[in-house]
Amino acid sequence: MTATSTLVADTSTPAAFDPSNVPGYAEARTWLSRQPKMLLIGGEWRPSLSGETFETFDPSTEQPLTVLARGRAADVDLAVKAARRAFEAKSWGGASPHDRTNALLKIADLVERNAAELAVIETLDNGTPLSNSTAWVASAVRALRYYAGWPTKILGTTNPSGPDTLIYMLREPMGVCGLINPWNAPLTMAVNKIAPALACGNTVVMKPAELTSLTALRLCKLIEEADVLPPGVINIVTGAGSDAGSAIAEHPGVDKVAFTGSTGVGKRIMQAATGNLKKVTLELGGKSPNIIFPDADLDAAIAAAVGGFCKNSGQICSAGTRLFVHESLHDEVSERVSRIAANYKVGAPLAPGTQMGPVISKAQMDSVLSYIDIGREERARLVLGGGRLGETGYFVQPTVFDRVTNEMRIAQEEIFGPVLSVIPFHDEDDAVFQSNDSPYGLAAAVWTRDVSRAHRVARALQAGRVWINTYATVDPSMSMGGYKQSGIGREMGAESIDAYTQTKSVFMKL
Ligand code: NAD
Repeated sequence: MTATSTLVADTSTPAAFDPSNVPGYAEARTWLSRQPKMLLIGGEWRPSLSGETFETFDPSTEQPLTVLARGRAADVDLAVKAARRAFEAKSWGGASPHDRTNALLKIADLVERNAAELAVIETLDNGTPLSNSTAWVASAVRALRYYAGWPTKILGTTNPSGPDTLIYMLREPMGVCGLINPWNAPLTMAVNKIAPALACGNTVVMKPAELTSLTALRLCKLIEEADVLPPGVINIVTGAGSDAGSAIAEHPGVDKVAFTGSTGVGKRIMQAATGNLKKVTLELGGKSPNIIFPDADLDAAIAAAVGGFCKNSGQICSAGTRLFVHESLHDEVSERVSRIAANYKVGAPLAPGTQMGPVISKAQMDSVLSYIDIGREERARLVLGGGRLGETGYFVQPTVFDRVTNEMRIAQEEIFGPVLSVIPFHDEDDAVFQSNDSPYGLAAAVWTRDVSRAHRVARALQAGRVWINTYATVDPSMSMGGYKQSGIGREMGAESIDAYTQTKSVFMKL
């Protein structure tokens, strides 16, 4: 294969597709047309105190979708106070755990009933293909039901002690939790934080990403319709990271901040949280290795490798963007991955069959394209793609570089776009060494039929999640989080219950 693009995507598709028959589209447009979207504070939808608003855009058409309230520090302050009052009233955290279970189940049912509309809103806002947003809504429902099962199982312990003492441990909510989310998987991120936070009896102030706030707002509207939470238990402030986001991170009334986003901003959040020593969990960036050994099921590994860097246009924290291939297979795998990616249907995200949509914004597209230039300058071999697709919408070609060396910037830095680096390795030790030679440690995968090697390598990889013979398969019970600069703490599974509770040990002299 030559170093020129062979991509066959139909660049006229975005403008040509008429989505009016897509299930949920009419409902989504109706909701979007009710402008502007407000902040939810203390159980009331209200404009920002300053009255400021901002627009949000469809990244596939560059057209505005709706207008959002621009919350700032003063709005965050109101939201935190409302959350504090709700927490102190103990009407949620102090409620029977069965009530919290039933509330989360009711929210899950409502999300499921409105799944088609939510998926369309997500796709319009984020640009991810409808098949992907539909799967995200289903996984949000699963996560809500998973955490609905927890309130009755958040156990303390009784410690062994002498005959005249009783020592036990209570597990209590943190209090007011500030939840700050990125734009790449908005509903998933919102639910993955809200569900465990509420299950544990906390109250929350959530700030979605300014580029994709819509499904978080629609979720809050559905939660309001469910009528299961006292006012102030859930608050949402839309706005920019530099004011609404940093106001949450700094606010002395916030007990815990749960942040998902870039490593750079994560470091700033940590600094901002020092004022009142908030508990902090950080889910940050990644540059995940996906390792193919010579004895792997190559068809399966290659298909998964394409999804690993093209899904959601590569805008996934755990995207498998470093494909380590045994040197004996490097050229074959690179070519086969590139051929499949070359035939990816890139286009209107709501159109049936679309496999990849745009990236989120012009800034993101420019950043991805600049990394592609860096790859060329670093003299990696460009096998596929390497440019923008079309002139409307922020579409980037699936791009494959091979003969990459792990110290190149395209192998070390998170690109957050559909760009793959194929890197050869000599043997198992080399594969592990190169995989771990990264500031990140979020996820990793290993493909081999040798069971011992699979588990040996899984243990040796420095990553919060490791997949064997699959990529990016998830379950709400499975914790997520980073080694090294990919984060602090864990989300999902039982570890989210730990992250949204604190323990109190009680000693009694009998
Ligand atoms: P980002 O860090 O730019 O923004 C994330 C959120 O933080 C947004 O809501 C933003 O408004 C807010 N923010 C920005 N500056 C802030 C500040 N100074 N104080 C407080 N909040 C601030 O990230 P992004 O570009 O939206 O998302 C992409 C990044 O998220 C990638 O690095 C990706 O790897 C990471 N991510 C990680 C995970 C994970 O689970 N580890 C999941 C998804 C995305």
